[in-house]
Amino acid sequence: MNTIMAMSGREYVSKVLSNLERDNPLEKEFHQAAKEILESLVCILDKHPEYMKLGILERIVEPERVFMFRVPWVDDNGIVRVNRGYRVQFNSAIGPYKGGLRFHPSVNLSIIKFLGFEQIFKNSLTGLPIGGGKGGANFDPKGKSDWEIMRFCQAFMAELYKYIGVDMDVPAGDIGVGGREIGYMYGQYKKLTRQYEPGVLTGKGLTFGGSLARKEATGYGLVYFVKEMLKSNKMSFDGQKVIVSGSGNVAIYAMEKATELGGKVIACSDSNGYVYDKNGINLQTVKRIKEVERKRISEYVKEHPEAEYHENMKDIWNIPCDIALPCATQNEIDINSAKALIKNGVKAVGEGANMPSTLEAIDAFLENKVLFAPAKASNAGGVGVSALEMSQNSMRMAWTFEEVDEKLKGIMKNIYEKSIISAEDCGCPGNLVVGANIAGFVKVADAMIGQGVV
Ligand code: GLU
Repeated sequence: MNTIMAMSGREYVSKVLSNLERDNPLEKEFHQAAKEILESLVCILDKHPEYMKLGILERIVEPERVFMFRVPWVDDNGIVRVNRGYRVQFNSAIGPYKGGLRFHPSVNLSIIKFLGFEQIFKNSLTGLPIGGGKGGANFDPKGKSDWEIMRFCQAFMAELYKYIGVDMDVPAGDIGVGGREIGYMYGQYKKLTRQYEPGVLTGKGLTFGGSLARKEATGYGLVYFVKEMLKSNKMSFDGQKVIVSGSGNVAIYAMEKATELGGKVIACSDSNGYVYDKNGINLQTVKRIKEVERKRISEYVKEHPEAEYHENMKDIWNIPCDIALPCATQNEIDINSAKALIKNGVKAVGEGANMPSTLEAIDAFLENKVLFAPAKASNAGGVGVSALEMSQNSMRMAWTFEEVDEKLKGIMKNIYEKSIISAEDCGCPGNLVVGANIAGFVKVADAMIGQGVV
């Protein structure tokens, strides 16, 4: 007797979520990501009971496989250090596993699983043939010399290379992993496998198979997405006060594009604190501090004495603004920050980081009619261009910056339109959280059904 068939979509979702919490205790970030997605699928589950019958949710919340491994390396003082490495291969229904690597001391299984789970739906939304995966290590790149970074990347790849491949699993960057780290890992992969296979990693340097516009893609894509959302609501970036948290790769290029479209970016941050510059953030200074010197954002005020530096980075959300683009990290906007933004009249929030708003914060934005662009839709430009990098590598060709940028614009517009249509179909017009989750889910679920119970 199949009791599932007697269940409503809501009951089925509650059952899967409570089993998930029981079977994965302590993985709170993973619980949060799963809850956000699954709860918005109720309407589609009621319409399509076959998803329940075929156990799609039970299968989709369980990674296809997880690797956890020791990463031993030697620091500049000759001391042996050991970190823990991860690769979660979550879902390969629509393509090889695809997703970044995060090097940050907070990395644990819960963080990698939440990121890998989000990646399944984000990658599906791009419309390109990429499955979902994620990896990383609890390694802290802060304060490490370039040689230490290289030795760590080589040690990490000495194990990871066994599990990846151009048609199997294609990692890229995330927090703490940029072009430099991808380059060191690619060199090690090539040495170990004796194959010149650039398509095995994305975000590479331009001299060895990297794509033009990959570096800019997540930030630019976020702004293209928010631009569409504003346009549908008869608004634009022009003349708006924008706050972008973070000052890494996503934040820098979100600031660049928002400024190009007429917005005035007045604040940005790093994990130590934030800078408020009422004259508008000088992006050349930020780029030099972060991309060249690899220093802290507090350096900014040394050159711009009219700007202010404050230590608590969460307080950045207390500054009045029209558009908020959280581009730092998960759960950086809690309910208090959301309330402060709403009180100060924020019109739109576009997520550049992965899961930067808590569930309560999202609810507050939606209830207060703030236009809200959820990460898996709005930050999909990075992985979208990664998939374009894979295409270029397969063709052994390179597109121009303009060609890639045009394709990126098309991808973001398409994600916006798909999400709006899905939200409408499910009786939640304008709710991009529900729309993006459903649009991303349906393609993966149908591919899983088509491939049988595997
Ligand atoms: N880490 C990025 C993300 O969260 C990019 C992943 C990729 O390019 O594979 O989507």
